[in-house]
Amino acid sequence: MLSPSLEAHVGRFLHDHITADRSGRPRLVALTFDDGPYPVDTPLLIDVLRDLGVPATFFLIGDDTELFPDLARRIERAGGEIANHTQTHPARFDELSGPDVRRELRDGAATLERYARDPAISTLMRPPHGRFTEETVDAAQAAGYHVVLWNDDPGDWRTAATPAVIDAHVAKYATAPEILLLHSGRLNTIESLPLLVSRFRAAGYRFVTVGGLLRRVPVAEIVHPERLTL
Ligand SMILES: [Zn+2]
Repeated sequence: MLSPSLEAHVGRFLHDHITADRSGRPRLVALTFDDGPYPVDTPLLIDVLRDLGVPATFFLIGDDTELFPDLARRIERAGGEIANHTQTHPARFDELSGPDVRRELRDGAATLERYARDPAISTLMRPPHGRFTEETVDAAQAAGYHVVLWNDDPGDWRTAATPAVIDAHVAKYATAPEILLLHSGRLNTIESLPLLVSRFRAAGYRFVTVGGLLRRVPVAEIVHPERLTL
């Protein structure tokens, strides 16, 4: 799913030894939550993740973080990874010029860094709505960012995405390793987490942040198109 140009980063990653499945790919999963932070939903999400004992990566919007800065602090205190989802969450990120991409990332990072210290704020970004072009990817990379997409999108933002629907999607399409796209602000998503976590654990997966995944697995492995059934 990542732009082929991201594979240029492969050489930057050194690998730890990881337990691999029979296909030789590591059973690691990074839960990622886009948008927010939002009152009520984000604190609930943090609590559920804590109770389940799994880390996660939060791609936060600068504008939302300015409204609810305590929530960014709370994510960080709980051990969540905080990464950059731009300052204003432009609807058509893929239509931005290179300088506009850099400004969105710079402003977003400046906002997030007022409330959190995570190095991922200035190194990991996800384009709003997953919309990108070669130009926007190049601009983000030139600003020092990895462009983080996902292997698996269960469509949890849709109204019809009940916990059972989300879980069934993951059962069918999860990869190894896996970056799972989820969203803040959705109760269905929060309610699906116990199902998802037990499913991944039963299949022998270990939970990591995106930063942790990138430290352990070369990008070529993360983008491997082969699908595995849990
Ligand atoms: Zn978003």
